[in-house]
Amino acid sequence: MTKTHHLLILPGDGIGPEVMAQARRVIDWFAKNRGMSFELSEGLVGGAAIDAEGAAISPDTLARAAAADAVLFGSVGGPKWDQLGFDNRPEIAILELRKQLGLFANLRPATVLDPLVDASTLKPEVVRGLDIMIVRESTGGIYFGEPRGVETLPGGGKRGVNTEVYTTAEIERVARVGFELARKRKNHLCSVEKANVMESGLLWRQTVTALGAAEYPDVALSHMYADNCAMQLVRNPRQFDVIVTSNLFGDLLSDLASMLTGSLGMLPSATLGEIGADGRRPALYEPIHGSAPDIAGQGIANPLAQILSLAMLLRYSLNRDAEADMLEAACVAVLATGLRTADLAAPGQAKATTAQIGDAVLAALDRAHG
Ligand code: NAD
Repeated sequence: MTKTHHLLILPGDGIGPEVMAQARRVIDWFAKNRGMSFELSEGLVGGAAIDAEGAAISPDTLARAAAADAVLFGSVGGPKWDQLGFDNRPEIAILELRKQLGLFANLRPATVLDPLVDASTLKPEVVRGLDIMIVRESTGGIYFGEPRGVETLPGGGKRGVNTEVYTTAEIERVARVGFELARKRKNHLCSVEKANVMESGLLWRQTVTALGAAEYPDVALSHMYADNCAMQLVRNPRQFDVIVTSNLFGDLLSDLASMLTGSLGMLPSATLGEIGADGRRPALYEPIHGSAPDIAGQGIANPLAQILSLAMLLRYSLNRDAEADMLEAACVAVLATGLRTADLAAPGQAKATTAQIGDAVLAALDRAHG
């Protein structure tokens, strides 16, 4: 019997619903042509949910997210909700989903697709064929550590404090994600910290080394200081396969790596939780771009980051590597024809609409399927 995959679709605000509509067409294509069975449910998040339901994400939507095999998320936010207080902003939807689903490993690929090699600010010979995966720990470290705060000193000055803190269990579970990914890729994991100046970094290095020796002796493990890693990512980015690092360093390094590719509308991401007793791993997939209010409602947004987020979902939540490969190849094929949305088009070049890119992806899938 065909397994039915339960997906929760959360389009959000701005261009979110526009790009998600194209991803839904791709899901329908896989159901029709590859014998896959999906049960889709849809919910409101972000500003749309604040307007209709009074909160950025309702308890019902959170419960449906926890029950789903995976969540496909669009983007949230926009000027309409900028005046709201910190406790009722659209972004709370993402924070709540991360918290409730225990999503601790953020996967950010930085891939340079051949037809877009000139979109990078780096020379083509440095970035051609680039294919890096950065795994960022996303629920611990300095953004959450205690003590934290700002205190007033006796002399009237102030003192701001944040604390980098990691336990061996937190390091091991994110490192495991890195090792497993490396096994599926080129079998090389680079662990990044500042063991030279931070005790938490030294513990990170020791813990990853011990885990590698005990459970992943087949994976080539290397270590790098975070400052050197930033330099190496610009100097010779193709030396990396999978990078695993803390919340703070991952925040900086994944943004740096994504700009090696030069195109915000192209980049997907995944955030994974712990594998449960039933064998399911909570997971959320989303483009790294925001809701792009400046172009929302015009039908001109690039839907490829959303569609490539669906490809990650096929690969990491549904274990459908063949379908994920097929979808990624279809996106490359579309770009190879020269079709470009406004964010990628050269000056003077005709600009494709969101729906035209969706049409072209489906046509490329049809061709590959034969
Ligand atoms: P943004 O990513 O929305 O847009 C930055 C620039 O890139 C804009 O010029 C936009 O038009 C362009 N762009 C982004 N995605 C595109 C696409 N798919 N196709 C074509 N062009 C694209 O970032 P921003 O402008 O800083 O933020 C806008 C809103 O989105 C804010 O409310 C912000 O809080 C929110 N935001 C949400 C998320 C999320 O939901 N995960 C992430 C980042 C920003």
